[in-house]
Amino acid sequence: MTVKPWGNLVGVRPTKPLHSLLDRGLSYEDALEAMQGRYGISRDKFDLLWQVANTARPVLAESSDPALFSVYVGIPFCPSRCLYCSFPSHSLTDLGKYRSQFVESLIHEISETGRQTAAAGMRPFTVYIGGGTPTALEPEELNRVLTSLRESFPGVWREFTVEAGRPETITDDHFQVIKQNGVERISINPQTMHSSTLALIGRKHSPDDVISAVKKARNYGIEIVNMDVIIGLPGEDAGMVEETANQILALQPENITMHVFARKRASRFNDQQIAYSLPDASEATEMHSKVTEMVNGTYQPYYLYRQRDILGGLENIGYTLPDHQCLYNILMIEERHNIIGLGGGATSKFVTQDVSLTNISTPKDVRIYLERIPQLIERRGVEIIKQAD
Ligand code: SF4
Repeated sequence: MTVKPWGNLVGVRPTKPLHSLLDRGLSYEDALEAMQGRYGISRDKFDLLWQVANTARPVLAESSDPALFSVYVGIPFCPSRCLYCSFPSHSLTDLGKYRSQFVESLIHEISETGRQTAAAGMRPFTVYIGGGTPTALEPEELNRVLTSLRESFPGVWREFTVEAGRPETITDDHFQVIKQNGVERISINPQTMHSSTLALIGRKHSPDDVISAVKKARNYGIEIVNMDVIIGLPGEDAGMVEETANQILALQPENITMHVFARKRASRFNDQQIAYSLPDASEATEMHSKVTEMVNGTYQPYYLYRQRDILGGLENIGYTLPDHQCLYNILMIEERHNIIGLGGGATSKFVTQDVSLTNISTPKDVRIYLERIPQLIERRGVEIIKQAD
């Protein structure tokens, strides 16, 4: 018989039903009974949700003022496209010629949106630059983007993250720009510490590039480093995953995000899957349990989400050292805080009074983004004004 730890709880954000119960003041025992009765989830998964939801709740309370918002900026370029990627990102080789035009439009979008939020009396809470790979921009371009964010959304930000997911893109000049603009958190993503797998999945960096980027981040005084790992990459077994986890733990990042391989329709993998061998559900579960065991005790889970076609029906979990959780990740997953998405393939989410959401997304294709940006700024401005009402 197949065991389904998540029972019939489907959807990307499994903490949401638990938050509804916590809003009503249910105790651990009552919430467990309600979740098991309704969804049939296992005690282990409930305990995971309980820990994550209770870590999130102080952050949700702190950010609950409707005049607050967080900014997400999507930089839709990467040095190459990873095998499994479905994110809105273009390989620089294919569409890099649009990069400088994109930066000009983005800066315009940032400053216009800053005018709209200021007029509506809204205040920035956190800022997160992702993509894509923000450090695929030239340092001078990145500096212009960061400076324009600081000027357009003045105030004290609770957190400022820049992803530097592909370690081969981040130079000393990038680190200087990041540091001088007050970025406290960066993400350097090995995914695996095995060169053969990195080559197979189309990433152009080596494990040594990862180690060197993390050491430099420390030397530049970046306070929080996140590292992403993927469990179940093609050709990897439990021993390889354990080696990767050991090497990552040795670098002592404040955050570790444990992803599980998912077959995504918009990925290269989807077209070529016959050529790759993936672990089956029980192998993936074994790897997941092993890494969980390795991080538990030192790190605690603080956000999680599920995906369709994820190996073993498992979940992606963000882990953190105590008091180092990424506020933006919590806010983005829990959807109780306004998020303004700028740049390529970014979604704005405006929370209405009945806690439903109005979503507005920018185009994933940079060429369409460049064409449509004036209409997008205007449409999003209407929602920003509504928040002031
Ligand atoms: S680095 Fe991230 S966004 Fe870029 S291609 Fe790879 S998975 Fe996609």
